[in-house]
Amino acid sequence: MSFNTRTHTCGELKLSNANEVVTLNGWVAKKRDLGGLLFIDLRDRYGITQIKIAPEQKDIYEVASKVGNEFVISVGGVVIERESKNKNIPTGEIEIDVQKFQILNEASVTPFVIEDEVKASEDLRLQYRYLDLRRHSLQRNLMIRSDVYRIVRNFYADRNFVEVETPILMKSTPEGARDYLVPSRVHKGKFYALPQSPQTYKQILMVSGLDRYIQICKCFRDEDLRADRQPEFTQIDLEMSFVHQQDVFNMTEPMFKEIWKEILGIELQTPFPQMSYDFVLENYGSDKPDLRIFGLSKIVNISEIVKDLEFVVFKNALAEKNGIVGGVKFSFAENNIDVTRKIIDGLTDFVKKLGFGGLGYIKYNSDGSVQSPLQKFLNEEVQAKIKNVFEAKDGEIIFILSGAKKKVLTSLGTIRNKIAADYKLIDKSRYEFLWVTDFPLFHYDEESGEIAAEHHMFTSPKAEEMYKFDEAKNLSGKERGELLQSIKADCYDLVLNGNEIASGSIRIHRQDIQKKVFDVVGLTEQEQQEKFGFLLNAFQYGAPPHGGVAFGFDRIVAILCGLDAIRDVIAFPKTVSAASLMDESPSNVAQQQLDDLGIAITIQTKNSD
Ligand code: ASP
Repeated sequence: MSFNTRTHTCGELKLSNANEVVTLNGWVAKKRDLGGLLFIDLRDRYGITQIKIAPEQKDIYEVASKVGNEFVISVGGVVIERESKNKNIPTGEIEIDVQKFQILNEASVTPFVIEDEVKASEDLRLQYRYLDLRRHSLQRNLMIRSDVYRIVRNFYADRNFVEVETPILMKSTPEGARDYLVPSRVHKGKFYALPQSPQTYKQILMVSGLDRYIQICKCFRDEDLRADRQPEFTQIDLEMSFVHQQDVFNMTEPMFKEIWKEILGIELQTPFPQMSYDFVLENYGSDKPDLRIFGLSKIVNISEIVKDLEFVVFKNALAEKNGIVGGVKFSFAENNIDVTRKIIDGLTDFVKKLGFGGLGYIKYNSDGSVQSPLQKFLNEEVQAKIKNVFEAKDGEIIFILSGAKKKVLTSLGTIRNKIAADYKLIDKSRYEFLWVTDFPLFHYDEESGEIAAEHHMFTSPKAEEMYKFDEAKNLSGKERGELLQSIKADCYDLVLNGNEIASGSIRIHRQDIQKKVFDVVGLTEQEQQEKFGFLLNAFQYGAPPHGGVAFGFDRIVAILCGLDAIRDVIAFPKTVSAASLMDESPSNVAQQQLDDLGIAITIQTKNSD
């Protein structure tokens, strides 16, 4: 089809272009008939320009009156000043007085109107993703995403990093989550796995002497379905040789500075604060605290203050080895919130679901009175000490929990987050970055007795904690588990506004230490060789000390776009049940394809998650 190509986009014509003859191509966003005059809002990725067609232009008028929304058209005409100007859009001072009008393609009535404040359900939008992606807000997200790729790549190219692609078809190796598997046709009965991350490859590249590696890569994890997780997601993956933790931080903080400056025009303050895992757990009850929260105190451990009280709940909790009593203070009055009986009951139900018998509280009413179910158990001295340590005043309430330390801390952390979310006590104008360091190397599950890597199995234990591996050999059961769990790792997360946006570590680069870690997580010698023989072998031939980090690209872009969910910064996301509604994947395949692979399908209907 012949048509005139555009001279301009729909987002660029201004009053200074008046009297120019132009051609625009685009989609009909809206058509209005105002007393015989036809107006069309012509849309492309760059903006919207108004097209005016008068009834006197008879032939054009006839064609134009037939177009519907989303028709693709080409118009030629003269740029003229608009009578009623629209100050909200860059092209709002002009319109096109049409001389040529051509329909390039017609459009059926779309299942939803393409507008920024879309009313359609998310499923419908995902089914018709190509229409959804016509919306300016989604296009803007993808453009920001594209800018971030560019900034990141340039940043690391300027610093001697090499971008290396690692395989998408790889060996299935345990890395924490479940692998997506791909059957091999050539090697019948064998499978590739899609990478959960390029972890082992990037370490091997360090052994090869590549020294500074970067890749913006796809990772695949067949995890149980959780809101706002995608089975495939993107990471900025980095690895460096001859580095310590601080070198990794120094090589990544300026990248965020550049991104924030260019995308948001915001000057980030560096260095980012650093807090240890133990510190954030004890103060915020979370390993990814949101430092934008206001109106809620840090967690205070009051075990020492209450330890001699004859209150059976506290007494029992503190009699346990790891028992504590702790609390968090909520300044309700200064945030204009009324903490009613109903609110307290609601929070009590909430903590009961977390496994507590109840929620203690001391409420300092605005009129100076004090309300607390604990009052009869607390003597005056203890009451005064609690008030003092929390620096509590009228209009504030202290919520108190007692029990096993980690559970109390994380539950108080959950209460902080819940109150902050419920009452909007989060300063959304801020970007709070934080490195959380010194994570435990292992996670010990008391119930199952299982020991797993807290980050992944390639993370280096802190050198000064290595002796615990030998000590643990003489122990068993809970004692062994607890000792191993106390080993700290050279491992770190980057947290932004309460989201874990990166994880990384200094790696093990010695075969003997790697084997110790494999042993602890229960890999037999044979399994170690089968699954990671290549890595252990590589470590024999001069592996340099190395470390790295991987950033969650989708989450970073979502935060830059001011979005809570990552779906809308991904062009073609999957639903919570890992389906693509547009192309209907996953789908059945032809029998021939299965035969080629030598695969027969038996569907287990029970427990086949
Ligand atoms: N590969 C790790 C992950 O995906 C990140 C890292 O340690 O660099 O979590």
